[in-house]
Amino acid sequence: MSRQTRFDYVVVGAGSAGCCLARRLSESGQHSVCLIEAGPSNANWRVSTPVALVNLMGNPRFNWMLESTPQPQLNGRRLSVPRGKTLGGSSSINSMVYIRGRPGDYDNWAAAGCAGWDWNSVLPYFRKSEKNLTHSGELHGDAGPLIVGELPSPHPLCESWAQAGEQAGIGRSRDFNGESQEGLGTYQVTMNRGRRWSSADAFLRSAPENLTVMTGAEVERIAFTGNRADAVLLAGDLGRIEVSRELVLSAGAVGSPSLLLASGVGPGAELSELGIDVVADVPGMGDNLQEHPAMNIFLKAKGGRGLSLANLPSMVWAPFQYLLNGSGLFSTNHVEAGGFARTRPELDHPDVQFHMIPARVGVDSKGVVWGRGFYADVCLLKPKSRGRLWLEKDNGRLVPRIDYNALSHPDDREGLIDGFLTLRKIVGSPALQQYLPQELSPGPGVQSREEILEACRQRVGTAYHPVGTCRMGSLENPESVVNPRLQVRDLENVRVADASIMPEIVAGNTNAPTIMLAEKASDLILEDAHS
Ligand SMILES: Cc1cc2nc3c(=O)[nH]c(=O)nc-3n(C[C@H](O)[C@H](O)[C@H](O)COP(=O)(O)OP(=O)(O)OC[C@H]3O[C@@H](n4cnc5c(N)ncnc54)[C@H](O)[C@@H]3O)c2cc1C
Repeated sequence: MSRQTRFDYVVVGAGSAGCCLARRLSESGQHSVCLIEAGPSNANWRVSTPVALVNLMGNPRFNWMLESTPQPQLNGRRLSVPRGKTLGGSSSINSMVYIRGRPGDYDNWAAAGCAGWDWNSVLPYFRKSEKNLTHSGELHGDAGPLIVGELPSPHPLCESWAQAGEQAGIGRSRDFNGESQEGLGTYQVTMNRGRRWSSADAFLRSAPENLTVMTGAEVERIAFTGNRADAVLLAGDLGRIEVSRELVLSAGAVGSPSLLLASGVGPGAELSELGIDVVADVPGMGDNLQEHPAMNIFLKAKGGRGLSLANLPSMVWAPFQYLLNGSGLFSTNHVEAGGFARTRPELDHPDVQFHMIPARVGVDSKGVVWGRGFYADVCLLKPKSRGRLWLEKDNGRLVPRIDYNALSHPDDREGLIDGFLTLRKIVGSPALQQYLPQELSPGPGVQSREEILEACRQRVGTAYHPVGTCRMGSLENPESVVNPRLQVRDLENVRVADASIMPEIVAGNTNAPTIMLAEKASDLILEDAHS
């Protein structure tokens, strides 16, 4: 039996965006669609059991496990860049926090030349995918395939954390995707009865017959005739998949620009220097890389999860509790609580976000740590530093070169110091002080702004939200890579639909916004097909 190798639409990358997009394109029933994923199937307990995400962070089977270049403002440290490599992509290894950002994010996109991407235009797409089990009303969807709800067993520290928000003057939030983001509280998560509910779970479980899903197939290059994509070439001896109508790249903020650059789409002179034949001179390709820098605090405390005698009963009971009703320790997404705050009262919107793990986390994140405690980090929502995604040769093979240029803008350094001081104020509130927390890192000796900045240089990580490398905008702006219909500059039939198109990073986690943009992308593509 011969395998089909020609499709109307070929979608590369079955991540948050790709699963949604491929599903919606095929749903019309009129087109053949092929979704190509480099990684394996997501049918594995490590992927489905929330607590196991710590394993996924170091598991090359499901994670590309990339690294940034040495960062000059971080004492030359490299930052870890985990990216999902399985059906569901990063939504299969992420922390499942459901956040959309704020309306102004999308109004900014529209004002920057992305017609049709303002809040009122994108809200219906957020609602279309969402099935919120708790919240309803005009801001939420209740019939979509992406299940969003409360954590089955939030740790009591989450309630104390929310009370600390009230005591610190930040407030409490019961719905971060409601009228206002501001406040602290427990996050809603993309879970179904205590199991991870990735984009693959949401969109591929009952996929129509005209959707072919390939796993273990890494696209190495796009084959062009002139500026039209004819096919994608698969690594190894897996052959080629022909494109009848359009090629859509949903390989993520690292994968999509890397593939385009390797195929000759990017800044012409620099591609030539790498020995790559130029198909289209697209100067902005790979620029505009944005990420949320995050500074952390590690605390030992008389409460919280962790290996201890006090926690022994709940740990022994955990597997049974999970098997019985999907609750308990095994259902934790780790990042159970958090919230948004303004570090200065005169700001119109929150400028920082927090992620709180109600468990003792090792300062160097290696090995077993005894004792209880909690961890929190603060990230800058609108960093001004801009990095770059480029390619470099490693043993003759082209691989991504990820330079975040983290904290290169002085405002980011000052903003993160302010954010850290706000985080310490939260930890100092009576609701958390009842656990007698002791700051293990950066430690009580770190007090002045200079000391905090140096601690940031030593400890800052990211929220794992790289975006922006195939920037969307009006093509009159030479920096734009795709237009607001997501078509790549100077190519006939190639679009990008994933986190890489965001012109400016959203004020929050990036999974829900990426699924939203895939929902909209499918409408744009089908509109063009039928016009
Ligand atoms: C550890 C971690 C925790 C996170 N936590 C949260 C969170 O709690 N909440 C939240 O909202 N966001 C979170 N994020 C971010 C969020 O998950 C991502 O922003 C989002 O999933 C990006 O979606 P995407 O479709 O752009 O890319 P991805 O989901 O990364 O999908 C890209 C897919 O393309 C595939 N691919 C790449 N190159 C090729 C190729 N050449 N050939 C074939 N396939 C290819 C990849 O294997 C992958 O499956 C987290 C991310 C990580 C890594």
